Amino acid sequence: MDANSLPLPRLDRVAQGNVIFHTDRALLAATGICAGFLERSGGTSAGTFESLNLSTAVGDDADAVQANRLLVAKLLADDESFPFVIPRQVHETTIIEIDAASPTTLAEARESAEAGADGILVGTSGVGALLNFADCVPVIIAAPDKSFAVVHAGWRGVYASIAPLAVRRFVGRGMEAADLNVYIGAYIHAECFEVSDEVHRQFREKFGEGCVYDDRHIDLGWALKRDLSNVGIVGERIADMDVCTVCDQERFFSFRGTDGVCGRHGALAFRKNEGGLHGD
Ligand SMILES: [Zn+2]
Repeated sequence: MDANSLPLPRLDRVAQGNVIFHTDRALLAATGICAGFLERSGGTSAGTFESLNLSTAVGDDADAVQANRLLVAKLLADDESFPFVIPRQVHETTIIEIDAASPTTLAEARESAEAGADGILVGTSGVGALLNFADCVPVIIAAPDKSFAVVHAGWRGVYASIAPLAVRRFVGRGMEAADLNVYIGAYIHAECFEVSDEVHRQFREKFGEGCVYDDRHIDLGWALKRDLSNVGIVGERIADMDVCTVCDQERFFSFRGTDGVCGRHGALAFRKNEGGLHGD
């Protein structure tokens, strides 16, 4: 292992106040990248959104969502005003790249994010990426050059290979796929992911029989990992929380588990500014 390689990925369950965050402490120590997956507890939203709902697009009270977002920034970045770019997720394959933390760049990134995106790759300190989930697969990628990406992969995103597309962006920026760390949060597992005959056929044809759980269910995680290995991601550099959102609704939101009316838990990554307040 050379001096620039990342520690092998692992996910530690960390309590920050009332908020639970699954993160890689060794990655943080080595690179300054704080990345991981939030549980649904510890926020202020009520009812089916209880309580750390981070999405404004699901019918929750806007003030509660804003309070939840500020809480996350305060607890994890130690700065309520730390800027996160939060895209409007559209189940497509647009990935936004952000390489400066200036107000102009941030404003442009937010405009692109609002137009619709399902991945954000950040190559600078001082800007974070936050995406929202309830059954879809959250994927975080970290690179030795301290860049990182957060990707939203529902079944459409998995099928369209958004995670491998994100890997290719890192490769285009001079990274080796084999050096990247990949983190996978909670998502709907195979035994709970019943699909139409059409989707079942599409997955079988694209990924092979390995993604078939039975004649009605598909294993999204298997398909995603096979797809990632095809672009050079190494098995030991994938850390999977191995939690099903439908089976663990105490800790995570589940779209299928609630007939589609629920909050969204977050996956996020950022690096704090280097060199103090005026680091960029
Ligand atoms: Zn399940």
